[in-house]
Amino acid sequence: MKIDILIKNGLILKFDKKPTLNNIAITDGKILEIGTNLEQKYKAKLIIDATEKIVMPGFVNTHSHVAMSYFKGLADDLPLQEWLTKHIWPVEEKFLSEEFVKDAAIHGCAEMIKNGITTFNDMYFFGDQTAGSVEKIGIRAVLGEGVLDFPVANYQNADEIFAYIRKMHDKYKKSELIDFAVAPHAIYTCGKENLIKSKDLALELGILLHIHLSETKQEVDDCIKKTGLRPVEYLDSLGFFEGDVVVAHAIWLDESEQNILAKNNSSIAINTSSNLKIASGFDSFKSYLEHGVNLSIGTDGVASNNNLSMLQEISLTAKLQKALNNDPTILPAKEMIQIATIGGAKALNKNNQIGSIEVGKKADIIIVDTDCIEAQPMYDPYSHLVYSLASEQIKDVIINGKIVMKNRKLVNIDENEIIEKAKYYQRKIMEFNHIK
Ligand SMILES: [Zn+2]
Repeated sequence: MKIDILIKNGLILKFDKKPTLNNIAITDGKILEIGTNLEQKYKAKLIIDATEKIVMPGFVNTHSHVAMSYFKGLADDLPLQEWLTKHIWPVEEKFLSEEFVKDAAIHGCAEMIKNGITTFNDMYFFGDQTAGSVEKIGIRAVLGEGVLDFPVANYQNADEIFAYIRKMHDKYKKSELIDFAVAPHAIYTCGKENLIKSKDLALELGILLHIHLSETKQEVDDCIKKTGLRPVEYLDSLGFFEGDVVVAHAIWLDESEQNILAKNNSSIAINTSSNLKIASGFDSFKSYLEHGVNLSIGTDGVASNNNLSMLQEISLTAKLQKALNNDPTILPAKEMIQIATIGGAKALNKNNQIGSIEVGKKADIIIVDTDCIEAQPMYDPYSHLVYSLASEQIKDVIINGKIVMKNRKLVNIDENEIIEKAKYYQRKIMEFNHIK
């Protein structure tokens, strides 16, 4: 039988078993078989020799702003509100266009793949253009169109955005790689009416809701002052959690809020780097785990992180939580990897399709080189992934059964073109900032 890809002799991370050397047969986008002697059984169009390599599910990044890639390093070391209102929003107002988003999104998608991300859950504008870039490069994405009370990008009001989401949902219904989502930006940029409309639309179309929540103490204090409720309680009072919800940040939750999320199967996208850098605060996720809240990992946008390394994100999160809880046993390496893969898949309601290496699941797989000084000796691959390795060790990336990065070279696009485009926009943005 002919198949698309055969991965041979890799150290395969299946979460229900010990890591073992084995082969994987991939065809029609899916994992067909995991076992020995597959080379004799199948004739593969592409054979990847994974000797001395870890073969694992790709990372699921549950909170990003992929088309903000040209704002990477534009303004740092500032409080969130000043960073947003004085630096990010003015350049967005000046530059956001279909063309800009298409270009910036392909840069962001390229950077994600280089970091082993095979699915991302985004929040931004001009989703149609992002979708074009997503399909071109071959990554999987849930594209949340941002909803705000005031005019933004080329939308005059939220109703125009809702109409757009409907249209996009229909356009990409058959896409193997793309889902659309409703992404009300935050409770301080969306009033009650638009939060409820967002929820109703998501329920009607059966799509995800994605929102920034409880990112700063200020946001919590303001919410209590205005509504008498904490942010999660406030959204709950609007019936928001009837939908499938990913809340990004969520670092200021009390126990009753944690219970609400757990009861409703809502998920949190942890964004440790971004929270630390903006000094938004941090919370102990021990209590979140004890309350049964599903955790996943987000990178946030490169404008606030400022990179898309999931390995760095999980390493930092694990260490921060150990220190915060004065407990080195919390979030052990294997659990951290599961949070960044199957935890993310669960957050996006896709855990029966992606997030782990199982026969019948979509083949979203990354291959990590361990035949190098940084990775040797290796007693436990999970330990190395969380504490020792960097993204440069991620060599090959397969998404939906197709190879999209081979030996760190992106297959479907010209990397030099992307680099030149970034330099072009950098010049434009610098000119604007100079005049401003
Ligand atoms: Zn964000």
